[in-house]
Amino acid sequence: MRLRFWIGLTAVLLIAAGSVVAALLVHANDEAKFHEMQQDEATRSAHQAEAVAALSIGQLSSASAFFQAEGTFNRHEFGVIAKPLLEEGALSGAAFIPRVTNAQRAGFERRYGAPIFESGPSGPHPARIRPVYYPIAYAVSSLGSAAPVGFDLGADPSRAPYLRRARDRGKAAATGPVRLLIGGLGINVYRPVYRDGAPTATVAQRRAALVGFAAGAFRIHDLATAALSTVPHSIAVQLRLGRGVLVGAQGQLDDPDSAPIHIADRTWLLIVRDPNRPDVGLPLALAVVGISLAALLGSLIFVWSRKERIDELQREASEDPLTGLKNRRRFEEDLQLAMARARRERTTGALLMLDLDYFKQVNDTHGHPAGDRLIREVAEVLRRRTRESDTLARLGGDEFAVVLPRCTTEEAQLTAEAIARAIRDHQPESDGAEPVTASVGVAVFGDHPRTSIASVVSEADTAMYAAKDGGRDGVRVFDPLAIRGDASSN
Ligand code: GH3
Ligand code: MG
Repeated sequence: MRLRFWIGLTAVLLIAAGSVVAALLVHANDEAKFHEMQQDEATRSAHQAEAVAALSIGQLSSASAFFQAEGTFNRHEFGVIAKPLLEEGALSGAAFIPRVTNAQRAGFERRYGAPIFESGPSGPHPARIRPVYYPIAYAVSSLGSAAPVGFDLGADPSRAPYLRRARDRGKAAATGPVRLLIGGLGINVYRPVYRDGAPTATVAQRRAALVGFAAGAFRIHDLATAALSTVPHSIAVQLRLGRGVLVGAQGQLDDPDSAPIHIADRTWLLIVRDPNRPDVGLPLALAVVGISLAALLGSLIFVWSRKERIDELQREASEDPLTGLKNRRRFEEDLQLAMARARRERTTGALLMLDLDYFKQVNDTHGHPAGDRLIREVAEVLRRRTRESDTLARLGGDEFAVVLPRCTTEEAQLTAEAIARAIRDHQPESDGAEPVTASVGVAVFGDHPRTSIASVVSEADTAMYAAKDGGRDGVRVFDPLAIRGDASSN
């Protein structure tokens, strides 16, 4: 019963653990699918944003080519070439500024006592002449009458480092978010333009060959709009550069996925958070059903094992541990029932009291274990010699009792004699042990309405002692007037 109990308990735990594991697997699978989808959304959005940036950067090539050729044409040619570039948006403005000639530069220096000036936030100031053109953003009056006001990007400390970087690396460089002159927050991309045919393999060569920059700008807003255009409205999108969030909800998004956006030499991060997380309902239901099933099974096993234990205790309480026959307590209950039934049915029954003869000698000669074995063998002989409906009991030591319901005195005597004979004929299994004999006393009940258990037991006892006194190995039937009986056929 213990083994079955533990097997049951293990099965219950396995079911519970199995359902939890299954629930976790289902959930993990749902999560993996969700992240795959979210990652796709992030990648799609990033590509879209990159496309917008690429469009702007692509236009820089045309501007660069224009730049490269600049200086080789006069004011009229400049106008003819710049016009289509302005129309297609490759150039957002163009102004023909004749190159400073050596004579002009000398004159300027004579006049101001310093090299040609460059403009800065604090107005014109003497500075070292720059041998290259830096992008100049112009704000032109719509009337066209006022002089153009230029903004020299090379003099802007927030932009100059990127120009230098583009110049030295020989490829386009992107600024971080900067405030555009028109259009709010944006990104500038500068592409270096080198003199046609000049060597540009080393930084020094690139610096020497530089003739100017093509500058492009696009608004962060356009980038974000492009990124958002591919995902549903409910999805949260963040555009990040480093740790800062530039577009979208501030703060950390819960369990997001991200994809890089490459703009010139700079990498942005597009972070996507889809609110449609997988439902935990199914895995949860799976776990709940599994655990409930396990709990139900566990309760059943508990109730069942409790019942088994109670049965076992009851059996132990009514059973003789050595032989498995009924014990004295159970014997008395059975005898009581048999006597009550006999009275009710107006029949008779009999009680046989049986005690082995000289049993001490078996113990003394062959040892206690051999004595035990013989007691078990006698119990087996009794089982073979009685019916299912008879009660067999070991009352203690070498003393046994047999209750025979529905039998006459003569039948009881015959049964007692058959039992005595069978015991005598039994060859003990222990090596060298001699067969034993038994003295049997018989008392009949049911023939007198007021007979008690104690008196029937006492009568059977008396008869059994009479058998002992009569030389043992015999059967005696209790007779209220005189003990009647004959020694069994020995
Ligand atoms: P008698 O013919 O007068 O019955 O003599 P006896 O030697 O059988 O003596 P008695 O019935 O009075 O005593 C029974 C003996 O059985 C006493 C004890 O040595 C032995 N005995 C009692 N219980 C057990 C038991 O559980 N196992 C074994 N091996 N021996 C027992
Ligand atoms: Mg005895």
